[in-house]
Amino acid sequence: MDCLFCKIIAGEIPCTKVYEDDGVFAFRDINPQAPVHVLLVPKKHMRNILECDGETAAALTKAIGEVAKLEGVKEDGFRIVSNCGKHGCQSVEHLHIHLLGGKQLSEKMD
Ligand code: 5GP
Ligand code: ZN
Repeated sequence: MDCLFCKIIAGEIPCTKVYEDDGVFAFRDINPQAPVHVLLVPKKHMRNILECDGETAAALTKAIGEVAKLEGVKEDGFRIVSNCGKHGCQSVEHLHIHLLGGKQLSEKMD
């Protein structure tokens, strides 16, 4: 399958890995929008949050906590975002959660 994030998970395209477990892979965004900007992706290909099953949602939730701890943003806080579809400006069609932090983020959400 011609999917950028599947290729990153498979090691075919280099990335800076932050965290990995059985179900989730996390790596630094190539174009960071904050001092901490990590992408968390399920290892199983799914297009977006609408295709996410309960087991994967639980794995992603656990991984968010692990990445927040590893990146040192647990105490001051962070934001998670998952863009979905055209209006959401999703540019890579493999479900991913952005984890942003390391500075005071804007109150604006759009
Ligand atoms: P989206 O716009 O779909 O929510 O987020 C896709 C994200 O993937 C963007 O923030 C973009 O910077 C990031 N990205 C695109 N190509 C690559 C890549 O080859 N490597 C990494 N690490 N991030 C990428
Ligand atoms: Zn994929």
